[in-house]
Amino acid sequence: MAGNLSDEIFVIGAKFYPYSAFQEALEKYQKDTLTQFVKAQAEKIPPKDSLHERFQYVNVRLQCKQGKRYKKAEPTKDQRPCQRSFKVGCPVQLTLHLNRRPKDAPCLKITQLNLKHAGHEVSRQVFQLYPEQRRISVDEVDLTVLGSTTLKTPEQQKILEERHSVPIMQHSIYNLQQKI
Ligand SMILES: [Zn+2]
Repeated sequence: MAGNLSDEIFVIGAKFYPYSAFQEALEKYQKDTLTQFVKAQAEKIPPKDSLHERFQYVNVRLQCKQGKRYKKAEPTKDQRPCQRSFKVGCPVQLTLHLNRRPKDAPCLKITQLNLKHAGHEVSRQVFQLYPEQRRISVDEVDLTVLGSTTLKTPEQQKILEERHSVPIMQHSIYNLQQKI
């Protein structure tokens, strides 16, 4: 059995300081377990608060992308229920809560956790197609590739896909080029 560090990091009571440490752990966990979390609910620390910059949130609830959809408004009579939704109500979720007791150093703590997917496939193929995973962080080599006037778009696409091991759409290549 290969040791999976993420399994030890993501437990109830686990502490993170600052928020960026949690983000890093989350990214690794998502890749290791092919889980895509999305923010379901969040309460920010007010900007005036001294903890705002380091911890950002009082509460954050993340759920599997295939989890329950949170309706923003009730559909009106003539609107048909959303049938494009592929969400299946997967119960996977994680709640992070800011711990700021006077005696302890402040931290973000996992207070609720369910990591058992239900009702959907968990695979690399599905995971890589989530839009969240198509965002890549572009480095200098990528910039050279994207800025090249001799490479055609499909060639740029192929190079970036190989470098980042994720599928990249052609329109993403155009979008990235706009940002250079
Ligand atoms: Zn799930």
